[in-house]
Amino acid sequence: MEIRVIHLGLIKTNCYLISSEKAAVVIDPGFKSEIPAQFLNENAEKERLILITHAHFDHIGGADELRKLTGVKIGIGAKDAESLSDPEINLSNKFHAGVEPFCADILFNDGDEFTVGDIPFKVILTPGHTVGEVCYLSGDNLFSGDTLFKGSVGRTDFPGGETRTLLRSVKKLITLPGNTKVYPGHGDFTTIAEEKNNNMFAW
Ligand SMILES: [Zn+2]
Repeated sequence: MEIRVIHLGLIKTNCYLISSEKAAVVIDPGFKSEIPAQFLNENAEKERLILITHAHFDHIGGADELRKLTGVKIGIGAKDAESLSDPEINLSNKFHAGVEPFCADILFNDGDEFTVGDIPFKVILTPGHTVGEVCYLSGDNLFSGDTLFKGSVGRTDFPGGETRTLLRSVKKLITLPGNTKVYPGHGDFTTIAEEKNNNMFAW
């Protein structure tokens, strides 16, 4: 399994392009870009999916167009799904992002497991940054959205955010094996062991 990151938009959202022999997955296409579309179209013979960690404008802004250009379905945590069509809650209005309301095709709940081609994923519900953010665990790779960053955690001052809830979610992630690689929604990659030792929000 190969994991590529591209940085999208002014606030540099990490958009992940994951490929294997039988699968191609895009996580958090936050802004319109030709690269994820090209990636999915080049892998048209494989099983494909677009995954969203949470419904904030900088993680969802390119998703609907990407689906139109590729025919690939969009999955998101069930509790964040309604926010895709609410520009107040997804912050599109606040940041003048112009994200048109849209709906996802697949809704995930905590603990759900699914496979794209030969890549297994497990859904971990991690509310606190938004009401229904989810992280995606694939083997020893965790796509942690805006829940857990290298040395930090997501903001809790946006609609649906709550600090105590977020810290509980972070503690849940920290129980994963130390060698789990963490691919956050912004900033550098890290590991669970590194965060256990250095991230004061995980203590
Ligand atoms: Zn966010």
